[in-house]
Amino acid sequence: MPTTDTVPVIAIDGPVGTGKGTVSHRVASILGFSLLDSGALYRVLALAARTRGVSPDAGPALARLAESLDIEFAPGDAVQPVRVRLGGVDITDDIRTEQCGNDASRVSAHCEVRDALLARQHGFRRPPGLVADGRDMGSVVFPDACVKVFLVATARVRAERRHKQLMAKGIDVSVNRLYREMVERDRRDRERMVAPLKPAADAVVVDTTELDIDTVVARVLEIARTKMVAAYFRE
Ligand code: C5P
Repeated sequence: MPTTDTVPVIAIDGPVGTGKGTVSHRVASILGFSLLDSGALYRVLALAARTRGVSPDAGPALARLAESLDIEFAPGDAVQPVRVRLGGVDITDDIRTEQCGNDASRVSAHCEVRDALLARQHGFRRPPGLVADGRDMGSVVFPDACVKVFLVATARVRAERRHKQLMAKGIDVSVNRLYREMVERDRRDRERMVAPLKPAADAVVVDTTELDIDTVVARVLEIARTKMVAAYFRE
């Protein structure tokens, strides 16, 4: 069995609404790799903090809470590929609200919180490989990932995609409000002091504004194939 450091990681980072979640899930299933949805960890923490009355500004208290959380990920279905349980209770739908996403963006800005969740994220690195989806997978959590992709798209298109997803779930919210919240969340994620949202120096940036999901998946698989073959011949 190889040590976990030799297990290949495909890091897929980028802002909300670029198709990261769907693309990561599809790439992981095609390659038979594990999947880490790191945003779900910050969302679970945000939900637990709200339920227990811990302020999103209280970094050290949030970090203690992050270390104590009994989080489980289990395979889901086509709509929700990963089910999330906290203390045995299914909270998959509760963590997917816009409110929880915005709270997650606030709790994730604390360096104590990011440190507290680091070992948990490293634990997902298991043979034969890992697809890691987030904001800082290639830059901070797995800097040695052999494949780093950073997805982008215009804010308007990302808000429209998110709107369509929510409408499909029967949630009616104005696209303009989504747009405003998304721009604000991106700004907070980009401007924070610790692990800001930005491509790693060696990431390949893919603009998904005019691409459908199948095309993005094919592009990521092609990048992965090229990088993994190159890494194999370097060893
Ligand atoms: O990806 P998702 O929208 O579920 O992430 C929710 C929030 O969690 C993001 O807006 C971001 O603030 C935070 N996050 C992060 N680092 C990650 C993944 C998510 O800071 N690796």
